[in-house]
Amino acid sequence: MIDNYGRQVHYLRLSVTELCNLRCRYCMPAEGVCKKPHGAMLTQEEMLRAVEVAASLGIRKLRITGGEPLVKRNILSICEQAAAVEGIEELCLTTNGILLPQLAKPLRRAGVQRLNLSLDTLNAEKYAHITRLGTLQQALDGLHAALEAGFEKVKINAVLMGGFNDDEIPALADLTRQYPVDVRFIELMPLLQGDAFTPDAYIPCDRVLQALPEAAAQQSDGGVARLYRLPDAQGNIGLISPISQHFCHRCNRIRLTADGWLKPCLHSGEEFLIKGLDKDEMAEMFRRAILAKPACHGELSAHSPSRAGRTMNRIGG
Ligand code: SAM
Ligand code: SF4
Repeated sequence: MIDNYGRQVHYLRLSVTELCNLRCRYCMPAEGVCKKPHGAMLTQEEMLRAVEVAASLGIRKLRITGGEPLVKRNILSICEQAAAVEGIEELCLTTNGILLPQLAKPLRRAGVQRLNLSLDTLNAEKYAHITRLGTLQQALDGLHAALEAGFEKVKINAVLMGGFNDDEIPALADLTRQYPVDVRFIELMPLLQGDAFTPDAYIPCDRVLQALPEAAAQQSDGGVARLYRLPDAQGNIGLISPISQHFCHRCNRIRLTADGWLKPCLHSGEEFLIKGLDKDEMAEMFRRAILAKPACHGELSAHSPSRAGRTMNRIGG
């Protein structure tokens, strides 16, 4: 479907749960989220109905996310059914990787083609600090499991935080030499209320280029990341800069939260409920949500926080 600004919307990000086995400081409060009654969340049947409706309206790429999608009990069955929906050409999943040693191969068999894995630091103490609950070894085991399972593409996502991991840009980028992976640096977005980060944590992605003078620009692959490559690397470096160089004019996505709300824009509070709707009603709601996509998310900074109205684990980043 084409929105009011001429943008073709062909990408759905489906959050299958708000829950997570980590508590990353930029994403979730320390106490986690209140587990809601089952009745308040989308059922598997409703998720599948939504994917079918979305595909009938032109969605071709589906990303399963969360919260942490791998803590969802029926994740393999959701992936298998979603992969089989007519029109869905690309099934991707974003994970913190902790449960990949058990689940990477089953996910691949269930039809997941591409995997994004979040990894902000290669320092064990810093990993434990930023995730509050995880260990670096678990994440690295997850990365190895992903590589062994034979996904078409594995991308590592690192949220760039001034004073935390900006000194690790070369080490993180070097993963593209050690493994056949892309490493993408993502600007920290101000989403948590009473933000724990000081203004100098919000650094622009261009800092990555300053730290990697040997990185050569590459042609875009049509995604939101600006691409670069190190000499002798097996994968690209990606810069995702929602703050310093937003890509709203190329936005091709819509989000569905685990509690059934379509979000036309990550940073807007406007939402459309599809829980409990039949196919025709859902299709109408998808159309309304796509036509409600704003031209742009407006200014975002430490002083001008997102108006998303939810933390990232409750949106589906
Ligand atoms: N649990 C999975 C994971 O961590 O990959 C999937 C969900 S998580 C919300 C998706 C992505 O959002 C992660 O790569 C995470 O780093 C990113 N994210 C969460 N909060 C963010 C923030 N405030 N700014 C930038 N990226 C954020
Ligand atoms: Fe969990 Fe992912 Fe949020 Fe970290 S970024 S708390 S792993 S949902």
